[in-house]
Amino acid sequence: MTPAGPANGRQARLLPARRGPSRVAGWLRGAALGLAVLLAAPAPAGAADAAADGDATADARIVFPTSVQQGAMVLGKVPPGSVVAYAGRTLRTTGYGTVVFGVGRDATGPLVVTVDPPAGRREVVRIAVTARDWPVQRVDGVPPRTVDPPPAIAERIRREQARVAEARLRDDPRTDFAQRFVVPVEGRISGRFGRARVYNGKPGSPHSGMDIAAPSGTPVKAPAAGIVTFADPDLYLTGGTLVIDHGHGISSNFLHLSRIDVRVGDRVEQGQVVAAVGSTGRSTGPHLHWGMNWFDVRIDPQLVLEERGAP
Ligand SMILES: [Zn+2]
Repeated sequence: MTPAGPANGRQARLLPARRGPSRVAGWLRGAALGLAVLLAAPAPAGAADAAADGDATADARIVFPTSVQQGAMVLGKVPPGSVVAYAGRTLRTTGYGTVVFGVGRDATGPLVVTVDPPAGRREVVRIAVTARDWPVQRVDGVPPRTVDPPPAIAERIRREQARVAEARLRDDPRTDFAQRFVVPVEGRISGRFGRARVYNGKPGSPHSGMDIAAPSGTPVKAPAAGIVTFADPDLYLTGGTLVIDHGHGISSNFLHLSRIDVRVGDRVEQGQVVAAVGSTGRSTGPHLHWGMNWFDVRIDPQLVLEERGAP
């Protein structure tokens, strides 16, 4: 079935008021492909209480996009209290009923989401996946030791990547992922997500994020609020490496940094300077590599940015 949602526009909605600073206002709006998704942003102080009462008969609709692209971050809305499963995982739901998940580069549809509302029957939502083109990108001139590392180095790389992977497994209740993401650095996009990569003539993994060319030392801003879950100035492949968790399994990683200004456990706000552009690790020149994940699934930051909709 295809759950119906509002065709367009924004609908002001508020999460039930909660203790602490994590009150979040949400709104439904049209997204690319004319699909309804749910986003949230910080509520102005005082507004939440009043509106939350009006929303007590929380929205019983189930809203997901009918089709998504490979690499997308998918936001959905379910009746609060629902149990939602996707890809073998039970999704964390906000008090308002927002859920999020990521679609891998090679995913094929239909994606199947099951929703067990607190009242009523199970709904099965099927979402089509639009396949994308993944052109090959040749990257020449990277240090040979990063392409064909000796066994001892390969072991170091494995250990380091495992530490980064672990940081991405956090399932935090914060809802920073629902902010409208902003670019961490202004600049030319020099590498796109998903492209098959050939390093110095040797096939490597697909590109896991987007590259933005910028001079070394350019400040890197947090694209959305979050918590720093990994920070290391010197990983073999990725150089200065930083991971910011945005909640519900969504995280950003920044690679090749020349400087890191935050520490693990720090809370950062959207737009806060967290690091500086560099060319450390397997890199051919100063740029920011910005990757995003839903747990271990890599998603495309460019698509997340495009979710911003009208300013
Ligand atoms: Zn990159």
